[in-house]
Amino acid sequence: MKTVVNKDILKKAIRNIPDFPRKGIQFKDITTLLKDPALYHYVIEQFTNYYRNRGITRVVAIESRGFILGGILAHQLGAGFVPVRKPGKLPAGVYRRSYQLEYGEDALEIHRDALAKEDIVLCHDDLLATGGTTLAALDLIREFSVSRVYLAYLVELDALEGRKRITGDYDIFTLIHF
Ligand code: AMP
Repeated sequence: MKTVVNKDILKKAIRNIPDFPRKGIQFKDITTLLKDPALYHYVIEQFTNYYRNRGITRVVAIESRGFILGGILAHQLGAGFVPVRKPGKLPAGVYRRSYQLEYGEDALEIHRDALAKEDIVLCHDDLLATGGTTLAALDLIREFSVSRVYLAYLVELDALEGRKRITGDYDIFTLIHF
């Protein structure tokens, strides 16, 4: 029998880990969703349907959980894949931005030749919390003056209001809201 999947089932499949990696953080563990073939398939289908006719040429995915769906989405959309990585991982010349995380501080890098002006970019991360990571990624993408940027998340923590911090002409699509 074919498993019927909906957003409620998706939401229930995400495991909440209290106080990880620090006290006070409610960590949303997506591995419990990803390991289920029907749910994994459904998630990819939802994103593919949403972005199919939008002319996406590059999927920019944020290390590391952004890579899980980012590579598949690039393939599904006939787009190229561009990794945004933690410092020191990309081998060629990079642009770099520091940012605040819900739990700590970090930096992101992108290769200087990763994108071009004519690109229509889909920027993906697994989860939108305070928006700091996304703002840093957008800052990196801005270096290339690309023609359009879409933002896609599997999970969004609405109470942290990351969406409000992302000002500008961005289409933001999230599958699961907490
Ligand atoms: P932020 O920059 O605050 O929007 O945080 C988003 C990034 O941090 C994503 O790459 C997430 O993987 C990770 N993250 C932040 N908060 C959580 C959380 N509560 N559960 C799981 N991942 C989180």
